[in-house]
Amino acid sequence: MDITDIQVKGYERVARCRDEESGLHALIAVHDTTLGPALGGMRMWPYTSEDEAITDVLRLSKGMTYKSAVAETGLGGGKAVIIGDPNKDKSPELFRAMGRFLEALDGKYITAEDMNIGIPDLEIVREETRWVTGLSVEKGSSGNPSPYTALGCLIGLRAVVEEYGADSLKDQHVLIQGVGAVGGRLAILLKEAGARVTICDINEARVAELCGEHGFESVPELEHLAIECDIYSPCARGAGINDETIPLLRCKAVAGCANNQLLEPGNAVDLMNRGIVYAPDYVINAGGIINVGVEMTPEGYNEAVALEWIERIYGNLKRVFEISRVEGIPTSKAALQLAQARIDQARS
Ligand code: NAD
Repeated sequence: MDITDIQVKGYERVARCRDEESGLHALIAVHDTTLGPALGGMRMWPYTSEDEAITDVLRLSKGMTYKSAVAETGLGGGKAVIIGDPNKDKSPELFRAMGRFLEALDGKYITAEDMNIGIPDLEIVREETRWVTGLSVEKGSSGNPSPYTALGCLIGLRAVVEEYGADSLKDQHVLIQGVGAVGGRLAILLKEAGARVTICDINEARVAELCGEHGFESVPELEHLAIECDIYSPCARGAGINDETIPLLRCKAVAGCANNQLLEPGNAVDLMNRGIVYAPDYVINAGGIINVGVEMTPEGYNEAVALEWIERIYGNLKRVFEISRVEGIPTSKAALQLAQARIDQARS
């Protein structure tokens, strides 16, 4: 077991973790712990080089700092990536070794689920360290974050409709791209709130199942951008909002759960110039991290507290929209300002 530090300006710690016996090659980045211990998911991906993995872990851990700062979770930002093919390289030994590395960092980084890592993997990590969150509710943990992410998004959408001049979600037409764990739940919540919901997903069976059960309208993925709607809600993969798609959008707002919705920061300016309200992804999709944040309080997980904290997403978005309007800057920049102000205030 071997930990070596990689010096990166602006990051508190970046650790390369290698374990010869299990074949583990992982990177853990602790970006900023001003507001609390660094929490962020663990991802497994077949990166083609260590440099590629480092770029990813740096970007993701920094994103977690800002996400938690705006959401006021009392957490800092961190992330872990394991270099490997999730279909071939997973083993109990590998996850136990990962657990020992986390233990060696002594709580400076706390892990959770992310791409290609599931609760069974985390349970093995947990055998070696207590710095693991998002395990099953039966074990006193906060469980699957997806329903809380969807609920947080619904709450955030109330601020979004007000920003473009509607009173409530009732009768607003929302087009959701990607109806998996969060998008599917969001669709149901929106329908309950009286919205008109159109869904699209590359998984046709899932679309048929949801439309059959809940009466949503649907549109094929390739045609979905041509649909006129009030809110376009990306809930699938990132980078869907870009130079090619922005001119096609026929909506008043872009607001969904997907991470990293903008391909480039400049896309936020283009949305603003087109008069489209953009809810920065990490502000509106923070319900899951807020839920996990409650698990980290001295009192432990309590769903009632989590639901109360998730309501704050509404106020956070209102604040972001206000900064954007007053300063004439894109909402993504306004969110960053809000996050940085909270970190600076804590520092001083
Ligand atoms: P998921 O895998 O359960 O669902 C994703 C869905 O998107 C699937 O049904 C998939 O078929 C569909 N999809 C993929 N590519 C598509 C495309 N091009 N067009 C239409 N549909 C497509 O994932 P999830 O947990 O629901 O997460 C969705 C997004 O939300 C991701 O970007 C994730 O990073 C983000 N997010 C999730 C959470 C959470 O709590 N799960 C929290 C924050 C952010």
